[in-house]
Amino acid sequence: MARAILTLERQRRRNATFERWPTMQVSVDRDRCCSSGMCVLNAPDDFEQDDRDGLVRLRQTAFRNERSADLRLAAELCPSGAILITEDDNPAAA
Ligand code: SF4
Repeated sequence: MARAILTLERQRRRNATFERWPTMQVSVDRDRCCSSGMCVLNAPDDFEQDDRDGLVRLRQTAFRNERSADLRLAAELCPSGAILITEDDNPAAA
């Protein structure tokens, strides 16, 4: 129970931070992923590979725009086009 509350509090703080800053939304299509590991190589803080099947997993889905360079490089070098990036330059207007 305490762990769930702690997780919710972390989520609330993260959401509060993202409300004030431009963000990028990242998603991955695991059906397209071919387990090359290029994204993990280029952005190890943001992507990981599932131990069971080697398919990509995102560590989170919303990122501050300062992570843009690494995320864009990962998406560009993904051999299967499985990484989608959407930018939101004005999150307060959403
Ligand atoms: S680079 Fe693309 S294909 Fe390779 S593990 Fe990452 S998402 Fe999958």
